[in-house]
Amino acid sequence: MKTTTAKRKIQKTLLDWFDREQRDMPWRGSRDPYPIWVSEIMLQQTQVITVIPYFERWMKSFPTLQKLARSREETVLKHWEGLGYYSRARNLHQAAKRVVKEHQGKVPDTYEQLIKLPGIGRYTAGAILSIAFDQREPVLDGNVKRVLSRLFVMQGNGVPSAHESRLWDTSAGLVPAQRPGDFNQAMMELGATVCLPKKPLCLVCPLQKQCEAQLQGKVDQFPAPKTRTPAKKIEVSAAVITRSGKVYIQQRLHGGLMGGLWEFPGGKRKPRETEEACLIREIQEELGISVTISKKLMTIKHSYTQFRVALTVFWCPWQSGRIRATQCEQWKWVKYEDLNDFTYPAANAKIVKFLLNSSGAFK
Ligand code: SF4
Repeated sequence: MKTTTAKRKIQKTLLDWFDREQRDMPWRGSRDPYPIWVSEIMLQQTQVITVIPYFERWMKSFPTLQKLARSREETVLKHWEGLGYYSRARNLHQAAKRVVKEHQGKVPDTYEQLIKLPGIGRYTAGAILSIAFDQREPVLDGNVKRVLSRLFVMQGNGVPSAHESRLWDTSAGLVPAQRPGDFNQAMMELGATVCLPKKPLCLVCPLQKQCEAQLQGKVDQFPAPKTRTPAKKIEVSAAVITRSGKVYIQQRLHGGLMGGLWEFPGGKRKPRETEEACLIREIQEELGISVTISKKLMTIKHSYTQFRVALTVFWCPWQSGRIRATQCEQWKWVKYEDLNDFTYPAANAKIVKFLLNSSGAFK
């Protein structure tokens, strides 16, 4: 770590740069912990440009923590549709309820209390405490990690947890007592707009004279490239079952992956099984009915964090049999015009879009 004078120089230079260059964002400038919290949760794994319209819609519908706590989970999830990682929305909702019940509706201002709330980890607690409550707490997200690793030529030594811990210590040692929240935001802003992963804009970087990687001509070596395991590929068949102008949808079990979201029935293909045979077997197992496939509608490819899905969708007008869905929370026959009232995983949302654009061809 640098000397106190060098640290002060970094702090001042970065804060001056932030005052000049920070991007306009609807949550910036506020000291209200609730919108700061919402923005920090939305920004996890999602870019600012994507988050802004979601944030504005969210604050319009749930302007206070109390309003959020009183809202139905289905409504909350609908506001998150398209952002992915739905557990973030569910946790935020649960945490709002806890704050209302246990803290008289006031967001706690201590690390110990914040960290107990669902969905709040060390990063989010640090962001809320520094930005909303002016406390000298560090943050460490992907952007800050990259900036720190270049600024101080920090490389992992094969023990990821030890490296992470060193980065946290470094971040904590750098946060100033004055304007800690602005400093943390400046670090994140620098990582997002200047100290970019592939081609950092060192020539316009305010810290180029303090940056060890730049001074040593080793920027491309920091941070060390990650070894990624290739995402698993899953092949799924799904059915659009229609009956008298309505479509069958079912709600995924709470607690599981993408729990509580709605989907079209179907499942994973077994080795050497055809897409059609897979669908007929899955529908028999899941709903207890036999379906006849009328038409293949499309194949959707979608990448989630841990896996890639190839989802083949078939149109199966209902013929006979009583549905006994056993592997879902609940199921419904829904009119086409009401399909958008439900929240779907990204790949299923594409099916809904397709159906709504099909001018009733598959009723
Ligand atoms: S000089 Fe380059 S590598 Fe160093 S912090 Fe600035 S942008 Fe990043």
